[in-house]
Amino acid sequence: MTGVHTPLMRSIREGNVAALLQRIVLDGPSARKQLGRVTGLSFTTITRLVTGLVDGGVLHELPARPVGGAASRAGRPETPLGFVPGGRVVVGTHIRAASATSSVFDLTGSRTASFTVPFPVSSPEPAIAAALRATERALASVSPGRVLGVGVSTGGVVDTDTGVVVDSPLLGWRDVDLRTPFTRLGPPVLIDNSVRCLALDRLWDGQAPRTDTFLTVFVANVVASALIVDRSLLGGPGASAGQISHLPVRNGPGTVCPCGATDCLGVVVTNRALHRRAVEQGLLPAATPWADVLRDDLDTSPGLRLLRLERARILGEAVATLNAFSNPETTVIAGYLGTDEEVEACLATVRAHAVRTGAGTLCRIEHQVVPHSAWDRASAALVLDDFLRRPTSYVTTLLD
Ligand SMILES: [Zn+2]
Repeated sequence: MTGVHTPLMRSIREGNVAALLQRIVLDGPSARKQLGRVTGLSFTTITRLVTGLVDGGVLHELPARPVGGAASRAGRPETPLGFVPGGRVVVGTHIRAASATSSVFDLTGSRTASFTVPFPVSSPEPAIAAALRATERALASVSPGRVLGVGVSTGGVVDTDTGVVVDSPLLGWRDVDLRTPFTRLGPPVLIDNSVRCLALDRLWDGQAPRTDTFLTVFVANVVASALIVDRSLLGGPGASAGQISHLPVRNGPGTVCPCGATDCLGVVVTNRALHRRAVEQGLLPAATPWADVLRDDLDTSPGLRLLRLERARILGEAVATLNAFSNPETTVIAGYLGTDEEVEACLATVRAHAVRTGAGTLCRIEHQVVPHSAWDRASAALVLDDFLRRPTSYVTTLLD
């Protein structure tokens, strides 16, 4: 391959390689001709770039398959190009209350290894030590040359530029530097908020319905959102876009937020907030674990059912406000919202507002259950997203 010397040539090469890789992530294994059609690149350019990607261990040729379609020339099978299974990998580490999980994913999306390390208290030192241990095990499971990078995520406000967890109410952290300890591991490290990572995971999920501009709102013990605009994650200064926990709630229950205001979204709609109100109203015994507030078999009390429906409605109103402002193609309400009735109450509130204001009338509103196992993959999506935008920074031989 001819060397790429000037900044302009490098930038063109970067854009072309990124376009190829993004198509293969979204469309699956693709032949050179098909890649030419969807990217607009010449067959010669594609052949040259593909050689670099095959040499770099990113792509490989799959067995030839017959060309489909009546218009195709018979007898000329095509050779699809796909990511090498178990080839280049991204590592995703997620830090939650009481444990950290680190997993390895190849570029076909397969999880090839996963390690969870518990920690007894959520203070930064033991939690970071556990997360580092899980990540070291993940890294040790593959040869170093294959690792593109490590994505680390946790809840709360995370400054992507500095790699500092500015405020994590769940872990009780303030201004905790994650970048320094993780950078010592060697591979490139990216750090972000979990919900933003979840949105990136959907962005590059070839199985998910294709949507270029979408809003994800996640609720569990925290409430947060992420906005993807034209296939790019909105960050803003300090990467604090999407932090909605202090959004004011109208006619709320009168709960005081740690910020000093009353009825911020974060103290009204989270599962812990729901549990607290259920206990205050005598609907659940004080000793009931907070997670039980959403147990369907406990939903026998009419009072608890109404309280849960009220939470669904308040969340729906907040999402409707975000929708009216950002006008996404799709809005995903992610997390466990309780019964089908509660999910429907939430989605119906969003839809009702969309019709009334005329905003987002074409917007699809979806509910996404987020299993425990989704967060390590989401963390890895942080690196995948950056690799798919700046591939030559990760595989420098692509510039040879
Ligand atoms: Zn607040």
